[in-house]
Amino acid sequence: MPIEDTLQTLIPEAEVHARIEALARQIDADYAGAGEIVLIGVLRGAFIFLADLSRRLATPHRVDFIALASYDDGTRSSGVVRLIMDLRTSVTGKHVVIVEDIVDTGYTIAYLTEILQARHPASLRTCALLRKLERHEVDVRVDYLGFDIPDVWVVGYGLDYADRFRTLPYIGVVTPED
Ligand code: 5GP
Repeated sequence: MPIEDTLQTLIPEAEVHARIEALARQIDADYAGAGEIVLIGVLRGAFIFLADLSRRLATPHRVDFIALASYDDGTRSSGVVRLIMDLRTSVTGKHVVIVEDIVDTGYTIAYLTEILQARHPASLRTCALLRKLERHEVDVRVDYLGFDIPDVWVVGYGLDYADRFRTLPYIGVVTPED
């Protein structure tokens, strides 16, 4: 069956928007009076979530990006993460929020937290639109979470399957044939 024929809605657009609005209010409340913060988007999957979150934040902030990849077979990560593109700006002494599309095994967030912590930010928190708790292999903390989801392959809202479906306005599920 063609992959697009397996596409189903998991989280409708309106629910995603409402949740992002709530996350923005939570971040605004937590950083009230803290001055400027830095949102770090993890490419490529987080770009749409980051854009929507950023535009809803009242907290003054800058945006930077980092690109990572895990050695994998396309849909399952191996746990080995490498840095493809670093930040353009220093985070030393800054309040940093990592913005991820999805936390799956947890290796990506664990790696990012480690390398950014070594640069001595004033504070470091994590924000993820989605989390697959049952897939976690390392213990990672997500400070601002959109939704917990089951172990399915999600697409849309920046997330892809073989570089497709990224611009779907809702969170969908595809079921590749084995
Ligand atoms: P982790 O390092 O936590 O295992 O994986 C994080 C990365 O794996 C995410 O940033 C994302 O790129 C990818 N990933 C994990 N699960 C999914 C999924 O269901 N759909 C998509 N499109 N990417 C996923």
